[in-house]
Amino acid sequence: MSAIKVALQHSPKGGRHKTSKAMSAEVSPDSKCPICLDVFHNMSYLDRCLHKFCFRCILEWSKNKPECPLCKQPFRSIYHINSIYH
Ligand SMILES: [Zn+2]
Ligand SMILES: [Zn+2]
Repeated sequence: MSAIKVALQHSPKGGRHKTSKAMSAEVSPDSKCPICLDVFHNMSYLDRCLHKFCFRCILEWSKNKPECPLCKQPFRSIYHINSIYH
């Protein structure tokens, strides 16, 4: 009887990872700045990894160390989105 229980728990049917779907749902257009955890103010992104931050947040961060807070890639430029569309 206990064998049936184990078989149910290990059932491969419907056991596909739902995590990828959940993760893509997290990335919403109005996502938040990973530095201040608030909505983006003057959204900007880095030249290397294209991660997005508030312009002020990443500017302050770059004074400490010019590398991405998320992926640790060094960056040389911060692109301010408003000025790109200008
Ligand atoms: Zn911020
Ligand atoms: Zn990054």
